[in-house]
Amino acid sequence: MTQATLIDGKAFALTVRERVARAVQVLKDRDGITTGLAVVLVGEDPASQIYVRNKHKATVDAGMESFEHRLPADTSEADLLALVRQLNEDPRVNGILVQLPLPKQIDEAAVIAAIHPDKDVDGFHIINAGRLWTGGAGTVPCTPLGCLLLLKHHLGDLSGKKALVIGRSNIVGKPMAGLLLNESCTVTVAHSRTRDLAAEVAQADIVVAAVGRPQFVKGEWLKPGAVVIDVGINRIDAGEGKTRVVGDVDFESALAVAGAITPVPGGVGPMTIAMLLYNTVRATCLQAGVAVPAELDA
Ligand code: NAP
Repeated sequence: MTQATLIDGKAFALTVRERVARAVQVLKDRDGITTGLAVVLVGEDPASQIYVRNKHKATVDAGMESFEHRLPADTSEADLLALVRQLNEDPRVNGILVQLPLPKQIDEAAVIAAIHPDKDVDGFHIINAGRLWTGGAGTVPCTPLGCLLLLKHHLGDLSGKKALVIGRSNIVGKPMAGLLLNESCTVTVAHSRTRDLAAEVAQADIVVAAVGRPQFVKGEWLKPGAVVIDVGINRIDAGEGKTRVVGDVDFESALAVAGAITPVPGGVGPMTIAMLLYNTVRATCLQAGVAVPAELDA
């Protein structure tokens, strides 16, 4: 039996990070600009702490300046908004990322809205969401942008493909659908009210699963040869008091039917940080009014 090709997001993310590092160096040498990324963490959520630590390391590794702001869990919305305004004004800061989720007393939408759209390297601001859906040049959320690069790297032209996005969150599903539509795919978006998901999956040349349910999409549902991008990150019991991370796709059964698939871990996850750095370089160029170094996309 033939097995699906593995789409190695870890290796691809490394090439993106190398391109980012070269572009950061060009900005220094050519334009005298040091690229800076500010990451704000409120509270002590363990997963968020790991993400922020990884983002800091990746930023420094790429030759950028990293500004880390760690605030206590009881920080008020007013204090966080004041910090965001300060970062908006700081010329050393080209990108601002406020790690989500935020504590209950803080309205996430208000914080996202306060970030200057040109510094919104997460691409969550309503202006950037609007630009994505109107064909404008905005910042695209990191995870779906990473998925798109993996798809284009594997398939080349996506035009005319039937794409199914499972999930309609603002950070993954909806922007993913917008990106695929912009690539001229025929896009279906499935969600918790979708009737007969298996029948939708069976039609799709491309399946992007962003559901948040472990091993939810079964290999038997797939169209033979489909390309599967698994965004899910779910920790499950692995017995003997241990846990392991799995995706939203049942990897073993999918391997036998799909043409290609991203593993979890080592697929979409590493692309997310790489695209954050990529977005920060583009934001820096936009703010400085300089050309994006060719090295970034070369
Ligand atoms: P989310 O906000 O919880 O959204 C999940 C989506 O799945 C919702 O739209 C929901 O539909 C849909 N859904 C739930 N049950 C379903 C069902 N039975 N059938 C069809 N659709 C169903 O999650 P998210 O933030 O988009 O994240 C999705 C997954 O990606 C999670 O596992 C998360 O950990 C992972 N993730 C990974 C990265 C990365 O870097 N790799 C980044 C972000 C997220 P409704 O809208 O109808 O409720």
